[in-house]
This record gives sequence, structure tokens and C-alpha cells, in this order.
Amino acid sequence: MTCIFCGIADGSVKSQLIYEDDHVVAFKDLNPQAPTHLLLIPRKHIARLSEADEQDTALLGHILLVAKKLAQQFDLKDFRLVTNNGKGAGQSVDHLHFHLMAGRRFLWPAG
Ligand code: AMP
Repeated sequence: MTCIFCGIADGSVKSQLIYEDDHVVAFKDLNPQAPTHLLLIPRKHIARLSEADEQDTALLGHILLVAKKLAQQFDLKDFRLVTNNGKGAGQSVDHLHFHLMAGRRFLWPAG
């Protein structure tokens, strides 16, 4: 089965790219739920966080630091970084991704 986010990572699927390096790609969410809504993905296909393992330690840390850098770049003081793990948690694309969202008030606990 083809993975849409793998397609974005390799450039075969168009996206509004915001950031890329050897390991991570960030792009605008197609259906934004906040004034700023980016998705950060590893180039490596990992279906969800629960599928990551010890070998992915540096990669996962790197994604968090890229999120921090993008938040700085976009001048976001308050932001939410979230990953949905599994359908019951709202995951609709089976490639690990972190939502970086800002620009409105967020409720807690998340709905
Ligand atoms: P989730 O529901 O946590 O799996 O999030 C998947 C997100 O991917 C949703 O917010 C979608 O709007 C977004 N999305 C799906 N396809 C694309 C795409 N081709 N380009 C950008 N965002 C997408």
C-alpha cells in the first residue's frame, strides 16, 4: 500500500513544504485546525509512535527539536505538539506525524 506521507517526504506528492533535512520533513496541514498547523514527519516510514523502537531514539529527539526551531521561526510563544496514536485516538494517516498547532486557544483535556 502506498503511503501519502512517504510520497510527501520523497517529493512525489505535492505539499506546502516548510522544512526538510535528511531525516525530517515539515509541511502545512491540508485541513488546518488552527491558524498555524504544521505536520512534522520522519522520512523513515514508522506507522505510529507505538511502532518506534530504540533505534529511533535520536530521530524522535530530532523531530522535537525541529518542532522547537519551527516554533521559534514562526514566532510561536504558545503552541501544541501532538501525535495521535491509533484510530481510536484520531489517527487517520498511518505514518508517524506530529501536529504543531498555534494561533488559537486550546482546550485541556484535549477532546
Ligand atoms: P491524524 O488524523 O492525526 O492522522 O492527522 C492526519 C492529518 O494529515 C490531518 O490533519 C489531515 O488534514 C492531514 N493530511 C492528510 N493528507 C494530507 C496531505 N496530502 N497534505 C497535508 N496534510 C494532509
